[in-house]
This record gives sequence, structure tokens and C-alpha cells, in this order.
Amino acid sequence: MESLASQSDSRASLLSLEPENLPGQGYRRGQIAAWLYDKGTTDWEGMTDLPKALRGELAQQYRVSEFAQVQPFESKDGSVKYLYTLLDGKQTEAVYMPYAGRKTICISSMVGCPAGCTFCATGKMGFGRNLTAAEILDQILFAAHHQGHSPRELRNVVLMGMGEPLLNLEQVLMAIRRMLHPQGLAMSPRRVTLSTVGIPRGIYRLAEEDLEVRLALSLHAPDDETRQKIIPTAHRYSIAEIMEAVRHYYSQTGRRVTLEYTMLKGINDHEWQAKSLAQHLEGLSAHINLIPWNPWEGAPHQGTSREGIMKFAAILERQGLPVSVRWSRGRDVGAACGQLALKQPA
Ligand code: SAH
Ligand code: SF4
Repeated sequence: MESLASQSDSRASLLSLEPENLPGQGYRRGQIAAWLYDKGTTDWEGMTDLPKALRGELAQQYRVSEFAQVQPFESKDGSVKYLYTLLDGKQTEAVYMPYAGRKTICISSMVGCPAGCTFCATGKMGFGRNLTAAEILDQILFAAHHQGHSPRELRNVVLMGMGEPLLNLEQVLMAIRRMLHPQGLAMSPRRVTLSTVGIPRGIYRLAEEDLEVRLALSLHAPDDETRQKIIPTAHRYSIAEIMEAVRHYYSQTGRRVTLEYTMLKGINDHEWQAKSLAQHLEGLSAHINLIPWNPWEGAPHQGTSREGIMKFAAILERQGLPVSVRWSRGRDVGAACGQLALKQPA
């Protein structure tokens, strides 16, 4: 466990500032931006080429970290779940995955989630609050620091942790802009993925912003009736409305959209549903990720068997659709998709 700031820290948040608005004059400002986003320093003491007096002065006005405490949990497969205690005592999580030289981090946009999907442990928790852009970014910065490398060495950032990013859009957009900013994380938009349960006005807004990040849509069913049973927000937006927004995103950005489909036994894994899904995707260059469902205590579901998933995938492939099965990592520490609910591993 690492303790960073005190819970009652009332200093201004350094990470809430754009690189061009950081304190100091041009040269100093560039140094501070480099300490934060290139070298991944999490406190003022670490910024050793700033004069000591200046560091002391800035430390009185600005906090560098958004967390009171961070607890890492390492999975047998190498992924690490980070449990962050925010300055108001609420908690959120991120998962760091170092596989095959492609360092990826899955971050959260909220504490909990208001969408209440029946298969998701975060949905079961309910809504805590939205995270600020600074809190979203600091999940990345702290994890890279803890792993001993520059935040810029991360290959992928996925907004697939706790929360629905399109329901916290202003802060999420601010955080994404900092990921892409040349003095921020300097990432290519291709390496940033935003996953949504499907909020049409948010998808249109994202298209308008022209950030060209990758969009992943959590569809999970090809028919409104099934979708409404497992995703409460599906009562508000039909699949047709959501797909129209997704087609618009594709035509504006040229970015191939990913469709996520968590396989739930007896609910969305029937043969007719695979065929119907293929029909929805005609003319849209989409990649389908079938996600084996990750169990959590008290969940009202069972996952589709491995054979069932392969059969479903084969039907989609026969229709000419690109499909992959995303076997999750980190199940042993509750770090897999949909298991994020602040439970400490046993
Ligand atoms: N709110 C956003 C992003 C966070 S959820 C969204 O819903 O897309 C990230 C992904 O994990 C989604 O595709 C979600 O459907 C999936 N997921 C949720 N619970 C799961 C579980 N128990 N097993 C496997 N995938 C799950
Ligand atoms: Fe929220 Fe996504 Fe979980 Fe649904 S699947 S409850 S939208 S985090």
C-alpha cells in the first residue's frame, strides 16, 4: 500500500491543468509537464531539476497526486489491479496488463456505475460519483510510475473499467485530450479505446470532437427485447438508434468500431441471435469481440460454455464477420472485465 496525499488535501489539482496552463514560465512549465507525463513523477520532491525554493512554493499551492492511497493486487498471470482511494475516501480501480510487450491499462471513468447491467459487478454496486479528468489521468500516471516506466511507454489505454464514460463525457474528453496532447501522454488516438453501453447523444458528441479514438460498443444482444432484460438503459435507446449513431461515428472518423458481446448462457447465445447480429452489422466495418462472462458472487447469470462460444463465433465467421474471443485475464484478483467492484481478493 502506498500513501500519497492526505484525505483532506485542499490544494489545487495540478493534473486538472492543461500543459500550457501549468504553473511557471515557459521553460519551467515544460519541465513540469515532462516530469508529470514523460518521467511519471508523482510528487514535487521528485522534480529534482526545479529549484528547491520553487518546489516548496508550488507544493503549498498544488497537489500532484489525486489519491490518498493506492493498493496494488498482482494476478498470477501478470496483470495488476490497482485500488485507488480518492481524496474524499471513495474508491475506484484500474487494471494494468503488461502482456507481450504491449503495456495496456484499463481505467475507470466513475466510482461505480448508474447503468445497472445485470451481468456486471460494477452495475450491481450502483453509482458513487463521476471521476474528474485529473482522477482519470492519474490512474494511468500512478500505474506507470509503480511499474517503473514512463507513462508514455503505455501502448494502449482502454476506458473499460468502472463506469459509463459517455455519461461523464466532459471530464472523459478532457482526460482523452491530455492523452493525445504532445506535451501530455503524446499517444496516437488509435491507441485509446472508449467502451460504451450505447448512449447515442454521447456517440454523436464524440464524433463531433474529432478525436478519432477507437469506439467499442457493448451490444450484448441483437434484439431490443433481450437487451432490455440485461441492460436497463436499453429501455431508453433502441438498438436501431444506437447503431445509427455508431454508423455516423464510423463515417466521420473512418475508425473501425468494435462490438462487445458478453456471452450469457441461455440469454444471448442462441443461434438465431448470431444470425441476427450479423444482419445488423452489414455494411459496417465492425470487429466483434465475444467476451466469456466473468463470474462474481451473487450474479444472476451463468456464462456460455467454451463450445457454445466457439459455435456462436463460427456462425458469425460464416457470415464474413471478423470475430475474436477475448479470454479475460486477472480473474483471480477480480481484475477481469465486469468484476470491478472494489472487492479485495481473498
Ligand atoms: N460502461 C462501459 C465500459 C465499462 S464495462 C460499457 O459497458 O461498455 C467494459 C466491458 O466489460 C463491457 O463490454 C461490459 O459489457 C463488459 N462486462 C461487464 N461485466 C462483465 C462480466 N461479468 N464478464 C465479462 N464482461 C463483462
Ligand atoms: Fe456500467 Fe458498463 Fe457495467 Fe453496464 S457493463 S453497469 S454500463 S460498467
